[in-house]
Order: sequence, then structure tokens, then C-alpha cells
Amino acid sequence: VSAARLFAAVDLPGEVRSELASWARRGVGGRSELRLVPEENLHLTLVFLGWRDEEDAARIGSLVVECAAGPIEASLGDALWLAPRRPHVLTVALDAADEALSSLQSRVQEALVRGAGHEPEDRPFRPHVTVARVRGRERVRPSQIELPPVPRATFGLRALTLYRSRPGPGGSRYEPVARVGLA
Ligand code: ATP
Ligand code: MG
Repeated sequence: VSAARLFAAVDLPGEVRSELASWARRGVGGRSELRLVPEENLHLTLVFLGWRDEEDAARIGSLVVECAAGPIEASLGDALWLAPRRPHVLTVALDAADEALSSLQSRVQEALVRGAGHEPEDRPFRPHVTVARVRGRERVRPSQIELPPVPRATFGLRALTLYRSRPGPGGSRYEPVARVGLA
């Protein structure tokens, strides 16, 4: 049987993706040690499942979309290099307006632990959007990179989606397996 690489994510409004992409381009677009995440790929990961039996994808998709429960508001927060001491990615934190986002993440994680044999991460959920990735073997020193201020934005999260990630030479392509709106 073939395998599908799956992750559950929250989709951002198009204007927010566009603002984030342009901020990242201004901040690190000229640096060869980093590659920008394409604008259409910008998202907030809730749970990364990894490689799964392709035949289970649709059922896992139903488990995920059933977790949606109404609107979620968030704002763009600080720029964060992760992990701080040895960064692999440049991200922007998402600041939640209330408990709705972390509750959604807990529900999705719970559902996947119970219904899909997922091993939960023991790190706390820290919502962030990855905007650039450090290329293999390269190193970045955040103290030497001056980033422009992150644009301010407060918005409703658009949708909850189970994605299939298809690795490719020019970067991964994401395909929605199941999606539900959050508005
Ligand atoms: P590429 O790997 O081609 O650079 P990508 O990282 O966006 O692109 P995936 O590796 O399939 O594509 O990752 C999909 C999503 O899951 C991304 O948000 C990524 O940060 C997250 N992710 C990937 N691997 C892990 C992991 N081991 N633990 C937690 N999240 C992960
Ligand atoms: Mg990856």
C-alpha cells in the first residue's frame, strides 16, 4: 500500500498570507541560506501525522473536520526563529484572542490519538506560521538578521483542513483531503 504524508492545519485568510509572504520577502528574501515558503503554502499546523497508509486518509480527514466548533480569532505576533539556538525555520507567532485555538488543537490531537494511533507531542502547542526554512547544512545567526516589524493583523481563521503533503523537487505541494470552514 502506498503512503500519504498528512498534517492537520488551519488556513489563514488570503490577505494575511499575502502580508506574511511580503514581510518574509522583505526580511530574508535576499538570503541564499534560506528559502521562502510559497505564499499559497502558508498555514498554521495543528498536528503533524507524518506518513500514513493512503487508504486511511479519508477516515482521518473525517476525524479532523468533526473537531471544528465555530469561529476563531487570532493576531499576528512576534517573529520567532525556531529552535532559537539552532534555527531551522523563521516563523511568526499567532496570538490567540481566547481559548478557541488551543481548544481546537487539543480536540484534533485527542481525536487523532484515539482514532488514528497518533503519538501526541509532549511539547506545548505554540501556534506559529513558518515563513522561511533554513536550507540543509546552512546556519543562520538571528542576532545578525534585522527583521522588519511584523505587520499587525487580527482576523478570523478560515478553515480546518487535513492536508496531504506531496514532496517534490521545488518544495512540497499541499492537497486538501478534507476541509471545514470555521466562520
Ligand atoms: P518541505 O519539507 O518540502 O520543505 P514542508 O516542510 O512544508 O515542505 P512537510 O515536511 O510535509 O512539508 O510538512 C508539512 C507541515 O508539517 C509543515 O507545517 C511542517 O512544518 C510540519 N512538520 C513537518 N515535519 C514535522 C515534524 N516532524 N513535527 C512537527 N511538524 C512537522
Ligand atoms: Mg518539511
